[in-house]
Amino acid sequence: MTGRITEEVTFAVIVNGVVCTPQEVIANGVVVIAGGQIQAVDHQAKVSIPAQAKVFDAMGQHVIPGLIDLHIHGLEGQDAMLDAGVTNMAPRLAHYGVTAFLPTVTPAPLPELEERLAAVAEAVVQRPQGAKPLGIHLEGPFLSPQQPGMMNAAHFRPFAEAEFERMWTAAQGLLRMVTLAPEEADNMRAIPHLLDRGIVPSIGHSNATFMQVTEAVRRGLTHASHTYNAMRGFHHREPGVVGGVWLHPQITAQVIGDGTHVHPAGLQILLQIKGVDGVALVSDATLLAGLPPGEYQWEGETVIVDSRSARLTNGTLAGSTVLLNQGLRTLTEEVRLPLEEALVTVTRTPARALGLPKGELAPGYDADLVILDADLRPLLTMVEGEVVFRSPDLGGH
Ligand SMILES: [Zn+2]
Repeated sequence: MTGRITEEVTFAVIVNGVVCTPQEVIANGVVVIAGGQIQAVDHQAKVSIPAQAKVFDAMGQHVIPGLIDLHIHGLEGQDAMLDAGVTNMAPRLAHYGVTAFLPTVTPAPLPELEERLAAVAEAVVQRPQGAKPLGIHLEGPFLSPQQPGMMNAAHFRPFAEAEFERMWTAAQGLLRMVTLAPEEADNMRAIPHLLDRGIVPSIGHSNATFMQVTEAVRRGLTHASHTYNAMRGFHHREPGVVGGVWLHPQITAQVIGDGTHVHPAGLQILLQIKGVDGVALVSDATLLAGLPPGEYQWEGETVIVDSRSARLTNGTLAGSTVLLNQGLRTLTEEVRLPLEEALVTVTRTPARALGLPKGELAPGYDADLVILDADLRPLLTMVEGEVVFRSPDLGGH
């Protein structure tokens, strides 16, 4: 029997696009892909297209890096924490232009939390079709009972090394981000501990004072979970967590981009202070995201879903329901940012927050990209060189 002695390199080329790298915008641009990575990005006239390449015509539409969501709990009835949740979410996320995500796990009694972590870790290892799960974001359980948001504070607990070890083991070492309230008990000590394992420590569900945030930054804090939501707000005599996030350039600020959890002016202030390289838009989407408007039963409550939000019958927001492509629209239409700038918050910034070669269209980066139509709807989504979604509206074959 003769086996192949050399691995076949698959070439693909995107032509005729307005390519947002996002450092520059190349009209009539070409992206050359080989072996799951980007090989070249340039003007059409300057690139020789390999003869054996599969060619995709972007039809003059935008070609952008794939969207990266650092904070997502579910989608279309799928809960990221349950057995097949991540596996079922991954292909659906590609329809929204999301190419990579951090499935997020919330607090529970320790044995149940271990089960949740084990289920997600297994899905990450199995590498489902579609968007790529990048590891796990553990949102808690080292949180402040004063800022529970939608969570049950009974499951919050202080950081303790032995317990964290159990979570780390259950997660097969795939924790990439942990949200914590540094002011509670021994939680400040968790920061260097997380950094030692390559985990991004993120402040969230926190009632810390400005001084406590500053101390956390001194210990290595670099990230904030859903800025403004479930954290001590700004007061001119006590700038709180929000003031700390605004002021410290070391902190990359996640913010929910649905235009409801944070007023567009709140988004604009954050962007003006930190710039697009300091802000990572997140969906914080729940399993209600992407479902048609209507009334649903969720966690024992009646939730009313409309086109933009999900609320309990008393009006309280019940998690977010829109994905990052919609967040991009909030930034372009309501904050009036040009697309190529808005785009940084859903591509380069989240990729850099995790230190990944993603989020940019440049040689050597992973070939994660999206062709977006003028209405910001994905026409084609590619993950590491593989087409994982293709709209019938995209021409060709
Ligand atoms: Zn949260």
